[in-house]
Amino acid sequence: MDKVLVSACLLGKQVRYDGGAKSSGSKILAQWQAEGRVVAVCPEVDAGLPIPRATAEIIAGDGDDVLAGSARVVDRHGENLTAAFLSGASLALQLCQRHDIKVAVLTEHSPSCGSTEIYDGSFSGTKRLGTGVTSALLLSHGVQVFSQYEIVEAQRAIQVL
Ligand code: SF4
Repeated sequence: MDKVLVSACLLGKQVRYDGGAKSSGSKILAQWQAEGRVVAVCPEVDAGLPIPRATAEIIAGDGDDVLAGSARVVDRHGENLTAAFLSGASLALQLCQRHDIKVAVLTEHSPSCGSTEIYDGSFSGTKRLGTGVTSALLLSHGVQVFSQYEIVEAQRAIQVL
């Protein structure tokens, strides 16, 4: 049975920057969990960042630019977290490779997990189109990444694997 990588915060794990979760309440996710398909990931905590932690955003680009070395991730105090975010992305990719995962459902807007939109680096609540660092790395290795708003699409993607 094909496994799916899922952001731990969507599964109710209290791993977000503020110590909270972002439970999706999705019946499809619950079904996948019951089937033993779900592999949970929190790239930031897996990379050793604490809970809670300061919010972080990608400055001057998105996850692709971080992978290319032309953008960086900083927290709201200005600390450079780029290495930790790259490490978390790499660990998430290793999980996908270990479990032969081709589909992921990751939390939109996160500088790690966002797949369509992220915050723009101004720490003003403004969003821009773009990927987080983990999503960018997984996409570049052929993993299909969906957000929590696209779980039906993710389910379809699994059915045609
Ligand atoms: Fe959730 Fe991803 Fe942020 Fe971890 S890094 S709290 S899994 S959005």
